[in-house]
Amino acid sequence: MSELRKLSIFDTTLRDGEQAPGNAMTVDQKLLMATELEELGVNLIEAGFPAASKEDFEAVRAVSKALKRAKVCAFARATREDIDAVCAALRDGPPFQIEILSAVSDIHLQHKRCISREEALAEAKKAVEYAVALGLEDVSVAPEDATRADPDFLRRMVDTVVEAGATTIGVPDTVGAFLPHQFRQIILDVRSWVGEEIRISVHAHNDLGLAVAGTLAGIEAGADECQVTLCGIGERAGNAALEEVIAALVSHEEWYRRSTSIRTERISSSCQKLIGVLGLATAKAKPIIGANAFATAAGIHQSGILREPRTYEFLDPAMFGRKREILLSRHSGRAALRKRLEVLGFNLTELQVLRVYDALNASSIRAWSDDVIMNTAGGVLAEVA
Ligand code: MN
Repeated sequence: MSELRKLSIFDTTLRDGEQAPGNAMTVDQKLLMATELEELGVNLIEAGFPAASKEDFEAVRAVSKALKRAKVCAFARATREDIDAVCAALRDGPPFQIEILSAVSDIHLQHKRCISREEALAEAKKAVEYAVALGLEDVSVAPEDATRADPDFLRRMVDTVVEAGATTIGVPDTVGAFLPHQFRQIILDVRSWVGEEIRISVHAHNDLGLAVAGTLAGIEAGADECQVTLCGIGERAGNAALEEVIAALVSHEEWYRRSTSIRTERISSSCQKLIGVLGLATAKAKPIIGANAFATAAGIHQSGILREPRTYEFLDPAMFGRKREILLSRHSGRAALRKRLEVLGFNLTELQVLRVYDALNASSIRAWSDDVIMNTAGGVLAEVA
């Protein structure tokens, strides 16, 4: 087996994730999450957009000072003012990456920026040259809405910024429009234009529920890095979820042949920390982090899992810091309840088991945890006594 190729994990929870409605974080909250992300093992942390606000500026600065291993990245439009703001925030800290946004799709050029293609090229060239002249060594350019751009013009933009000194090209599907096979092709195309020396970073949105699929297709096509967020938070339907991308990479290692520095067993606690900070509501069925992601209450599944977890579990919960939960319910059947009662130390008659079962069914509780079962059985015994 050949060695695994390294994949850089660029986390944008604190920038793209934070910019979604309801996700604004204070400087202290960003610091807390940045430390958590570093412990989780991400390689780059996009901490914010210094030109956007005083808070963003302070947060980027504070995060940069707090990080020990991960590199900080800050976001800028292709203007001197934005690049200056990034430098002012980060100049006296450790090495950092600047991510400069350029405009490439005709929709954005005409309706948002009101500039021509030639003006967009000139603006991006000037911005990258300015950053390089300031001594910045890690300059990433993200041609915004790249996936809806004319491919010929995207190529001109990529060639222009690489020639001006960009070292990374981000490929953003800004509006979540792309299908996975298209992501694969665009990464192959960009690679054929820039060669192996330039890093390619893939950035997907989840408007079609395909952010993770698109990200994986980009990785398969040879992207050096993926841009993800914890719990998939981000603009509109969100970004590619870090935990889901990592789960696919580790569970299909023989296919992707990639290694990352993520400590998978911390994924659950990192996501929980973000959920706590933002007061997020998470769908029960959400992969990896949802309440039901590793829980079952169905008798047929339970009897399989109790014999051999792999019968109904593709992913090992412990690998992601979760626990398997075998919850009883109406779907589990009476035999399973009797067994569980025995394990919990209750030696009941058949009639008593039936009464516990009826009492549980009559309650509004749908999944019967050990506590619920013990309380109910205690109640039945007390009645008898
Ligand atoms: Mn985005």
